[in-house]
Amino acid sequence: MIKRKEIYLDHAATTPIDRTVLKKMEPYLKEKYGNPSSIHQFGEIARQAVNKSRQQIADFFGCLPEEIYFTSGATESDNWAIRGIVEKVISQEKIKPHLITSSIEHKAVLSLCQYLFKKKLIDLTLLNVNQDGLIEIEDLKKAIKKDTRLVSIMFANSEIGTVQPIRQIGEFLKKENQKRKNKILFYTDAVQAINYLNSKVDYLGVDLLSFSSHKIYGPKGIGGIYIKQGTPIKPLLIGGGHEKGMRSGTENVPGIVGFGEAIKKINYSQNDKIKKLRNQLITGIMKEIPDVSLNGSLRERLPSNAHLTFKGVEGEGIVFDLSQRGVMTSTSSACASHSLSPSHVLMAIGLPVELAHSSVRFTLGKETSSSDINYVLKILPGIIKRLRKISGYKHV
Ligand code: PLP
Repeated sequence: MIKRKEIYLDHAATTPIDRTVLKKMEPYLKEKYGNPSSIHQFGEIARQAVNKSRQQIADFFGCLPEEIYFTSGATESDNWAIRGIVEKVISQEKIKPHLITSSIEHKAVLSLCQYLFKKKLIDLTLLNVNQDGLIEIEDLKKAIKKDTRLVSIMFANSEIGTVQPIRQIGEFLKKENQKRKNKILFYTDAVQAINYLNSKVDYLGVDLLSFSSHKIYGPKGIGGIYIKQGTPIKPLLIGGGHEKGMRSGTENVPGIVGFGEAIKKINYSQNDKIKKLRNQLITGIMKEIPDVSLNGSLRERLPSNAHLTFKGVEGEGIVFDLSQRGVMTSTSSACASHSLSPSHVLMAIGLPVELAHSSVRFTLGKETSSSDINYVLKILPGIIKRLRKISGYKHV
């Protein structure tokens, strides 16, 4: 029997685990099962593995190992960063802190901020983005208030792949903070970016930065956050005092080991190859299929992301048909893809509802090949033609 072709173009949702990463983890799922808190030899082995991974991650971000905390993933890191700072400000300063974020953040940031605002715990400014999906620094400058304590802007968008001017924001906030008594902290959710962009924390000028292992060819269920030393933040989980008392709970040792190995393997020299294939996909689709448009900036964009609108067809229909032919794509970010409401990101860049529903995200990875792209280019025009016939769409 001929094996069905399988092409994975949904790397923003998750990545396949790298084989060498899995190999490094295996002993910690089998014979090296000690608890890092135990004082016996088994505990020592696990403790050393956790320390090694923490150092690998710290090296990647150019920070101290003590500034890296492990979590279960970026949703947890996002929640910790925002709640932890809000709670600290409220308890210390007895004020209602003002937060600034963008309208295209991941829901782990956006929904949490909206929840805190509804509960009247924070004052909130949501920065709009332009048509390209980028925030304007001038808007940020105008939004700053006396009680602003946190700016939370994602590094790269999970849906349309646009890259925000994090370094410029960091520089601006540094200058702004020199004039202020109470510092504005700067947090970035860097989950989608670290595979491709310089994520050294000093270069970016951030106080907190979050990341997740399953987006970088590591295991699921493990993530982390960089918290600059001295940042005023409440602990996330109270218990046995793990992670310097900030996030209690027995460490996910195999996950941590895999995470350290995965981050070590990040290789920006692959960016050009991925970008070339991505561009081949975009230009090929635009050439072969009428009434298609690209969403988000082409310049300020992750090399792996192509997000396209196909007029007159439901994005879900395209994803379904592609999947039937062995090609995995997505209509929006994985967490929102079961929602019937249009993507908040596409709404924010000004797409009408019907076009938002006609969009598909293709995200390439390090294993994507030219023949994968050629296969998509071969089957997609027929799929769109068939779906447009069903919907009655007529090219004008
Ligand atoms: N933030 C961004 C930008 C993401 O893309 C994701 C996952 O899609 C998350 C946060 C949530 O990460 P996790 O799956 O590790 O909770």
